[in-house]
Amino acid sequence: MTDQPIFDPEAWKLTDKQAELTARARALAAEKFAPRAPKYDREATFPTENYRDLAEAGLLGICIPESEGGIGADLKTYMLTAAEIGRYCGATALTFNMHVSSCLWTGDLLDKLDLDPETRARHHAMRRIHYRRVLEEGAIYAQPFSEGGAAAAGFKAFGTTALKVDGGWRVTGKKIFASLAGHADYYGVLCTALHSPDEEPSRRNTMYLAVPATAEGVKVVGDWDPLGMRGTVSRNLLFEDVFVPDEAQLMPEGVYAAAASRWPHMFMTLTPTYMGLAQAAYDFTVAYLRGEVPGMPPVKRRMYPTKQLAVAQMRVMLEATKAVWFQAISEARPDPSKDSLMRAWSAQYMVMENANEIAQLAIRTCGGQSMLRSLPLERLYRDSRCGSLMLPWTAELCLDKLGREALYEPGETDDD
Ligand SMILES: Cc1cc2nc3c(=O)[nH]c(=O)nc-3n(C[C@H](O)[C@H](O)[C@H](O)COP(=O)(O)OP(=O)(O)OC[C@H]3O[C@@H](n4cnc5c(N)ncnc54)[C@H](O)[C@@H]3O)c2cc1C
Repeated sequence: MTDQPIFDPEAWKLTDKQAELTARARALAAEKFAPRAPKYDREATFPTENYRDLAEAGLLGICIPESEGGIGADLKTYMLTAAEIGRYCGATALTFNMHVSSCLWTGDLLDKLDLDPETRARHHAMRRIHYRRVLEEGAIYAQPFSEGGAAAAGFKAFGTTALKVDGGWRVTGKKIFASLAGHADYYGVLCTALHSPDEEPSRRNTMYLAVPATAEGVKVVGDWDPLGMRGTVSRNLLFEDVFVPDEAQLMPEGVYAAAASRWPHMFMTLTPTYMGLAQAAYDFTVAYLRGEVPGMPPVKRRMYPTKQLAVAQMRVMLEATKAVWFQAISEARPDPSKDSLMRAWSAQYMVMENANEIAQLAIRTCGGQSMLRSLPLERLYRDSRCGSLMLPWTAELCLDKLGREALYEPGETDDD
């Protein structure tokens, strides 16, 4: 039996495009990704087969604008679609997000910003190169921004630098937690542009460069044996004086910093994976208590009031999380109001924390046999723990921002 959509198209008033894409993703992920997920998790290997299927299903170009030959999904449509993938394989959904981000930033997001005509024309010429690679060659993009310090949290300039030289840039630095490391064709590196070696790095000069995985000086280092999201293969990347030509820019110099500050909802794109995991943990619990999990004896546990109460609690948490998340992604636009931004942080916090809370309730409620590695629940539990750690909007930083913004208006201090 096919699973029900996470967001029923009629109840949540989805557009035809959203209904079609979510159904396409759900069918693909339920049929192909779910059975492969245990192996990628156990071996901590990249879901290469899933990427072949995503390419075949036309989904690699989901956020490439229609005018460029892609599907043209906007931020909300992409998020709804990705949640259906996260439900069946968290690692595929999370890595897919890194790939899609390169098209979202350069597509829907920049299309909704007021660039001057000359910058817009340059941007369109640049992005076309990348879109062709995705659509014609099936190229996969990663998005390494984390460096282990305050840059990924948005407080400092990136330590990875791109020094301007004749015909291009020389990239030097280290990225940690680079999902798709060793498996992406291009690394969409966020780094700081320098026009001379002694220039002071500034966040305003953040660059977004597509570094080919095969470029000289690119190295994948370190091992990968984490708690969860094991199939993301988020190893470290070294860039040792890597030359890339000018056309490697995913957007013109100076544009990224403005886009990142004007489009905060973009940082919510890490949540759909975890929205899907939350739904999966709930679905598993219902099936388990009804004695309907394939491969398990058909023992019913649904008649116990304590289990009914726990499922009720999970449902309340899931409904609340879905509702706030859906509202937040529906409001996504440049320069959101403070109220809208606070809802986005709240939604991010709720999805990331509640996915794990629902998974832990699921384990307690289903009982001992439910956490055996032969069943998906323990993987959902481990994968769901990772969401709160993801910068720049970790669960802690969301609370931090919410508390401050709730109590202070712009310019207010307590120094009298
Ligand atoms: C499964 C998985 C996949 C990932 N994939 C990617 C990827 O593809 N690309 C990528 O770029 N990153 C990725 N990440 C990394 C992620 O986004 C974070 O950058 C990473 O988890 C941070 O680790 P850390 O140990 O540096 O964190 P922390 O030490 O918690 O944070 C780093 C810095 O942020 C600041 N900071 C953190 N918390 C606070 C706080 N409460 N108040 C003030 N400052 C704070 C501090 O300066 C701190 O040193 C992935 C992470 C996971 C778990």
